[in-house]
Amino acid sequence: MASTHNNFDFFAASEKAIGDTELRRKLANASGHHLDAAARTRAEFPRYDEEREAARRIKAEAIGRLDELLLQLKQRLETNGCQVFFAADAAAARNYIVGIAKRNGLKRAVKGKSMTTEEIELNPALERAGVEVFETDLGEYIVQLRHERPSHILTPAIHLSKEDVGTLFHERFGMTYTNEPERLTAVARDNLRSIFMTADLGITGVNFAIAETGTLVLVENEGNGRFSSTLPDTFIAVMGIEKVIPRLADLSHFLEILARAGTGQKITTYTNFITCPRGHSELDGPREIHVVILDNGRSAMLADPVMREALYCLRCGACLNACPVYRRIGGHAYGYPYQGPIGSILSPNLFGSGAGFLPFASTLCGACREICPVKIDIPKMLLHMRAKENRNHLKWPRGASRARRAVARFARLAKRPRTVRTLSRIAAWMIRPVVRDGYVRWMPPPFSAWTRTRDFPAPKSAPRRKPKSGGV
Ligand code: SF4
Repeated sequence: MASTHNNFDFFAASEKAIGDTELRRKLANASGHHLDAAARTRAEFPRYDEEREAARRIKAEAIGRLDELLLQLKQRLETNGCQVFFAADAAAARNYIVGIAKRNGLKRAVKGKSMTTEEIELNPALERAGVEVFETDLGEYIVQLRHERPSHILTPAIHLSKEDVGTLFHERFGMTYTNEPERLTAVARDNLRSIFMTADLGITGVNFAIAETGTLVLVENEGNGRFSSTLPDTFIAVMGIEKVIPRLADLSHFLEILARAGTGQKITTYTNFITCPRGHSELDGPREIHVVILDNGRSAMLADPVMREALYCLRCGACLNACPVYRRIGGHAYGYPYQGPIGSILSPNLFGSGAGFLPFASTLCGACREICPVKIDIPKMLLHMRAKENRNHLKWPRGASRARRAVARFARLAKRPRTVRTLSRIAAWMIRPVVRDGYVRWMPPPFSAWTRTRDFPAPKSAPRRKPKSGGV
């Protein structure tokens, strides 16, 4: 099945999103809240930078020894009683999982949060095979009810307000409208409890897979990951090859920084360790555990000395919160499951040339690199990918080509300061009638594309150059 992620018009989607002032307000509130909380928690933790360095070192080691560690992980998992499947691509992963559902006659799946299953478009494949699929992370549950995709890798419903959720629940469940988060959460919890009790398949992602012990680590805040991985008789964990870490002792370094960077918590509420299926004398836990280890383009990233650093990513979401582009357009405008700065790197590598414009959706301000808990040099990779796309003669849409030609003309003009000064003076004089408080609020086409969504700072009349000393 062809991916539905491709053929997405990033330019049209981002233009629409920029014009949505309500969306921008919600994004600014939510991401601002996470950024403030994260800054506070980090300030209270003097070892934060030390732990960042340690985590980065471990990731570098793990990615450098990936073949060996994956083999060790597979052996340990199998010794522990789990079944392991290496999936070369999304189709192979989907087919394997659907095959398990068919073979075991499974009809109802509960899912913990997993960006990797978004990547492989698992839900529609299971539904086509007659399996009901329920997202159980609250944000994922909400976006599933709205037939949407998550708009943030950590907080899937970041584009919605509590009023939006109140309206959704009122329409879907017939309950009296409320915007009180406690009541809305209670309703979702009641609905999900009965679904958990009747599910026969659990599916989650994996945050870390420990090669030394064959342990899968799942961090979360709601307990739904624990329910999804323990209540149903069949449990499937889906992970990218980059999730492996060498030793159990390494884990603490990641747990110290992951939640601090993403949500500003000291640690997530639940840290689940999954090692083996239910033993004969045990009362709970899955009877069958499958671990799907996905490549889907990651090996090619590994082979590129610049791109391989993207495999360090912990999916903490901090770079999205810090990104001035993400904060204005939100996640849906990116068109792929991974959004924001890291999404602009992952999507073209995992989904192909349809996502080739995304590395250009950045101001290269460096906020993502600053905030990343494992110090991934995202701007460097974005520049690397831009150069590659340009070499491949990326075909720009008409409007974008015009903008690029205009920038090229400006670059030529900027080399002639005397002409620039004269033109600036003329522009300042011509534009004077439409300047209000130092800003131009309206300009005629083609400049109206700018003033439709933001004000333009009025050009200052360029100062006349002082005559050189001794001049007249
Ligand atoms: S790139 Fe860094 S900041 Fe962004 S999601 Fe990954 S780990 Fe977090």
